[in-house]
Amino acid sequence: MRDNQISKLYRAEDAVFSPNGRKLISTSKCNEFINKIIRQGYYNDNGGFRIIRSRYPKIDSQCATWNLTGNLLTLPPWAKCKQVIIHEMSHALCDHIAMNRHKFRETVEPHGKEFCTIYLNMVHCYISKKIALELEESFTKFGIKYTRANLNF
Ligand SMILES: [Zn+2]
Repeated sequence: MRDNQISKLYRAEDAVFSPNGRKLISTSKCNEFINKIIRQGYYNDNGGFRIIRSRYPKIDSQCATWNLTGNLLTLPPWAKCKQVIIHEMSHALCDHIAMNRHKFRETVEPHGKEFCTIYLNMVHCYISKKIALELEESFTKFGIKYTRANLNF
């Protein structure tokens, strides 16, 4: 599966969520925030997975990941902040929607327009409208595809 938007998306994210300005939170706050996402708002309204496992490796060089096998979120120390959790939980919701649609997984890129649309709605719901609008503007600037008609703001 090609992932054409990934590097542009990372640049667009960094323009809004400065990598040096991440507000890191404790493991228990991360778990609280993940549980909040599962129980209320956009993720919950769209029937996202009810059970999410999370692991917190101590090695900073690891990537933050969502793995559909085992519904597993991996958050190394640098990734313990709301915006990274929202990014990874957007993958979880995107995969969930994918599984409920015929052949979705074969045709949808990991960071394609469906993911980017879900991600903007997640940022709107769990951070703020202001930041969601800034991120949308950044998506436009970096030429990232998403579907404006499917945004909730
Ligand atoms: Zn991603």
